[in-house]
Amino acid sequence: MSDLLPCPEFPFFGARYPDATCIDGYLWDLDKCDDGKLYGGGDDPCPFCNTTEFIKQHHDPYPLSGNSVRELKVWIAKLREKYDYKQAPTREHKEGGGDDL
Ligand SMILES: [Zn+2]
Repeated sequence: MSDLLPCPEFPFFGARYPDATCIDGYLWDLDKCDDGKLYGGGDDPCPFCNTTEFIKQHHDPYPLSGNSVRELKVWIAKLREKYDYKQAPTREHKEGGGDDL
């Protein structure tokens, strides 16, 4: 059970058109489809709904040579904006604060 919106299809596997679709939090390659069954993918966490795993898997511990966590977060934020993906609000505000005094 989840309040999350379905994730958009978006370019991920190297195409300029949306070639990735999210199934249960992992991305599958829409170009690798046989008899309506996707056979390529399932290894890359979805940046929309599986952000934590995505960053874990894609960030480079040595940011000089690759994607830093911050760069990935910026990239994800842009992607979400572009596809108008709205998630349930995260608890970004400080804990302990009430709505009013
Ligand atoms: Zn997803």
